[in-house]
Amino acid sequence: MTDQAAALGALRQYFGYDSFRPGQSGLVEAILAGRDALGVMPTGAGKSVCYQIPAMLLPGVTVVISPLISLMRDQVDGLNDAGIPAAFINTTQSPDEQGMVLAQAAQGDVKLLYVAPERLETERFRDFAARTPISLVAVDEAHCVSQWGQDFRSSYLGIGEFIAGLPVRPVVAAFTATATERVRRDVVAMLGLNDPQITVTGFDRDNLYFDVIKMETKRKAAWVASYIAAHPDESGIVYCATRKATEELAASLNRAVPAMRAASGTAGASDETVATDGGSSGDDAARLGPIAVAYHGGMSAEIRDRAQRDFVTDRIPVVVATNAFGMGIDKSNVRYVIHHNMPDSIEAYYQEAGRAGRDGEPSRCTLLWNDGDIVTRRRLLDTDYDNERMTPEEQEINRVNKWHKLDAMIGYCRTTDCLHEYMTRYFGETAPADGARPGTCKGGCTNCNGTFETLDVTDIARAISRCVHDVMYDYDEQGRPTRMPMRQGLGSGKIVAVLRGSRAQDVLGRGLDRCPSYGRLRETPEARVRDVLSQMTTDKFLFVSEGRLPIVGFGTRAAETVAPDFHYEIKRVERKAARVSGGASAGMGE
Ligand code: ADP
Repeated sequence: MTDQAAALGALRQYFGYDSFRPGQSGLVEAILAGRDALGVMPTGAGKSVCYQIPAMLLPGVTVVISPLISLMRDQVDGLNDAGIPAAFINTTQSPDEQGMVLAQAAQGDVKLLYVAPERLETERFRDFAARTPISLVAVDEAHCVSQWGQDFRSSYLGIGEFIAGLPVRPVVAAFTATATERVRRDVVAMLGLNDPQITVTGFDRDNLYFDVIKMETKRKAAWVASYIAAHPDESGIVYCATRKATEELAASLNRAVPAMRAASGTAGASDETVATDGGSSGDDAARLGPIAVAYHGGMSAEIRDRAQRDFVTDRIPVVVATNAFGMGIDKSNVRYVIHHNMPDSIEAYYQEAGRAGRDGEPSRCTLLWNDGDIVTRRRLLDTDYDNERMTPEEQEINRVNKWHKLDAMIGYCRTTDCLHEYMTRYFGETAPADGARPGTCKGGCTNCNGTFETLDVTDIARAISRCVHDVMYDYDEQGRPTRMPMRQGLGSGKIVAVLRGSRAQDVLGRGLDRCPSYGRLRETPEARVRDVLSQMTTDKFLFVSEGRLPIVGFGTRAAETVAPDFHYEIKRVERKAARVSGGASAGMGE
C-alpha cells in the first residue's frame, strides 16, 4: 500500500473523515517519507492530524512536545476515545505513574507520548529516549522556540539539543498557527529541521468580507445598533475591549435596536427569539426578546453559560463580548463579527473575526477603530507584561514583539491593499495560484470595493525618507554633514520630532536641528506624519529594526521614494458614505 493510501485509510479508521484538508496530506506524506516538516495553519485547521496519522503508521513511538498541560490531557483523552494508544507524562502525575507510562511506551504500548519541553531535560526521560525507538518528534506551538514569537519559552530551546542527542535521529515535524517569515526561520534553525517540507495554508477565508471603518468612539454604538437592526435574521458577535463596555453596549443595543426596527417597520428575528417565559406570543416586548447579551470573564460561570447557550441556540442573536468569548464555542452560522475596538494583533483579530462564517456561507467582519485605540493599546502593552512564568528577559522580548504585532494591526487598519491579501501575507501564506491579487479578492473587502478615499502623501513620504537618511549624519555649525554616517539612525518618534522641528532637549542637545530635514514638515499635523511613517513601514519603504530600541532604516522599496514618478497615497481618515455590495450583509451607509 502506498503511503498515500495508508494515510487516507488511517484518517478514515481513526478519525472518521473521508478526505484530508488542504495542506494535511502533503505534510503527512512528507513525514511518512522520512522528511522533516513545518506546518503553519490557523487554529482549528487540523494540525494535530498531520502528526497523529504518521504516529499510527510509523513503527516507533511519537513524542509530542506541547507547552500546555491542560491541552495535553484533552488531546490524549480524545485520542484514547478514538482507540489510539496515547498518553502523557507531566507534573500532575506521581513519579510512579510517570514510570508506568514510560514503561508502557518503551514496550511499544503507547504510540503518542505527550510531554512538556521541560521534561526533555530530565535524566529519566533522556534515559527512556536513549533506549526506545522514537520515529517522530512532533513539536506543537513551535513558535515558542523563537524570540520573535509572542510566546517565547526558553524551555523550547532545549528541544534541538534533545533531538540531536538521540541515538537515531527521528523525523521532526513542527506545527504552529503563527509564523512570520522570521519566526519560521527560527523554528527551522532552532529545531534543526533538515530541508523541511514547509506548508502554510488555511489562512484565507474566502467567504468572509473584510471591512475596516475609522470612526469616532461616540458614533460606534449607533452604528452597531443600526447594523444589527438592518440584519434582523442574522446572528453576530460584537467584540469590545473591556468588560464594562460589553455591558453598556449590550444594554444600549437592547434599547436602540427594537426602536429602530419599529421605526423602519423591519420585522425582528422575533419568531426565532421568542422569550420562553410565559410564551405569550401576543406580547410585543416578549416577542422581540433581548437582542443582545453581554459576555465577559468577570461574570459568574452560570450567567456566562446561559449567555452562551442563548446565543448558540439562536435565542439571542447577538453576543457582546470581550475576547474571553469564543474559545471552544461551536456556532457555525455566525453571520457577522464586529470589532468595536482594534485588537492588539492580527493574530487576535484573525481568530476572533474568523468565528464568522464557519459554515462557509458569506459573512462579514467589520473592524471599527480610531486613533484612540492605538493610544490605549500602546499604553496597555507597556503596562501589561506580567506573565509570571516568564523570566525578565523573556518578558522584555515578548514586550518588544507585541509592539511589532500592534504595528501590523495598525497597518491593517490603514492599508489600501486587499485586506485578504494583507492577512494572508502577514501569516506568510503566498497568494493562491488562482490569484487573489489586490482588487480581485474572492471574499471581498472594503479596499477592493474601493469604498474609501485616499490622500496624496507623496511629499510627506519623500520628506520622511530623506530624514531617515539625514539623521544618520552629524552636521557642523554650517549645517554641513560630517563625512561618515555617525549614527545607526533614530527611532520613529525622534524622526517625527525632527521633521516637525521639535525644540525638545533630546533633539536640540544632539544637534539634530542642524540636520537639513529639521522642521521640513512643521506645517503637517504630527498624527499625519506618524500615519505616513507607519504606512511606509507596512509597505516596506522603511524598515523598523527589532530589539529594545527599534530604529528606523530603509526597507526593500526605499529607492522608489526618490524616483521622479514616485506617488504615494494612504487611506483618508474620513470615509465616504459607503455602500458596499457583495458579502453576506449588504453594507450600511454611514
Ligand atoms: P489545530 O491543531 O490546527 O488547532 P485540530 O487538529 O485540533 O486543529 O483540528 C480541528 C478540528 O478539525 C478537529 O475537530 C479535527 O478533528 C477536525 N479535522 C481535522 N482534520 C480534518 C479533516 N481532514 N476532515 C475533517 N475534519 C478534520
